[in-house]
Amino acid sequence: MADNTHPIRLIIHGGAGDIRRERLKTEREHAFTEVMKQSLQAGYAVLVAGGSSIDAVIAAIVVMEDSPLFNAGKGAVFSHEGRNELDAAIMDGASLRAGAVAGVTTLRNPIRAAHAVMTQSRHVMLIGQGAEAFAGEQGLEIVDPVYFFDQHRWNQLQKAITREQIALDHDMDDEAQPANDEKHGTVGAVALDRQGNLAAGTSTGGLTNKRYGRVGDTPVIGAGTYADNRSVAVSATGTGEMFIRTAAAFNTASQVRLLGKPVADAADIVLAEIAAIGGEGGLIALNEQGEYAMRFNTRGMFRGVIYDEGIAHVDF
Ligand code: ASP
Repeated sequence: MADNTHPIRLIIHGGAGDIRRERLKTEREHAFTEVMKQSLQAGYAVLVAGGSSIDAVIAAIVVMEDSPLFNAGKGAVFSHEGRNELDAAIMDGASLRAGAVAGVTTLRNPIRAAHAVMTQSRHVMLIGQGAEAFAGEQGLEIVDPVYFFDQHRWNQLQKAITREQIALDHDMDDEAQPANDEKHGTVGAVALDRQGNLAAGTSTGGLTNKRYGRVGDTPVIGAGTYADNRSVAVSATGTGEMFIRTAAAFNTASQVRLLGKPVADAADIVLAEIAAIGGEGGLIALNEQGEYAMRFNTRGMFRGVIYDEGIAHVDF
């Protein structure tokens, strides 16, 4: 459907969780709003110039990866070992091509690395040092891991470790522990370009205090990220294990493509499946007509949308 007359759309999220306006200090509220608006404008600039949905998704996500506010790129949470292990994925709805990286510690913008995997390799997912070596060969920016140090994130890790120790000492199981973090600050974007092509991308630092090389849903195609022009582009955030178990992003696309569900209903059905197995989070989904959903089963989700006229709307 390459008629160049499609409406353009960009939807983003910056994570779902226990986000309460009354708890966010005004400056932080402004900061989140500002970065999300910048992200939407960066992606919009690509789309309005006739660029591809893939490039718009990258532009939008890079802005959030470069901000310390979100759990992706610069603001990534710490693993148990005190490292920042980043995951990202991207998918092109026109060709079903996809790329992902997992457990990378030196790539400033994992979403760019995921894109390089998609376009410059024969593979879909590269992990750890191999992914970093590949990204380096592709000329992507490599940073010293101290680039990702953030005192607030470090404190979150210390708290999580203390909580874990208390749970161990009292013989509580994991489920009885307070939530891993107040929110899941993963970032994601879905876009529709003038040619009518969809794309989705997601980037994260995963979960605070993760260990053993844990990887969540974000870089798993069909779990945290999926795009197919025949249905929807999807990016998710939340308790990754449950998003993997429900094949959340592909599941959403299948509800639309195979069962004919409206986009918002598809998102709700999948989030209900996730809740039924003890998970929580949210997802954004967008179809070729520009219909979209930003749904979550947590208190809030940082989210935003921009349409043809270029005004960025954000909420949380
Ligand atoms: N879904 C991500 C993960 O499990 C975390 C998040 O959304 O914040 O790695």
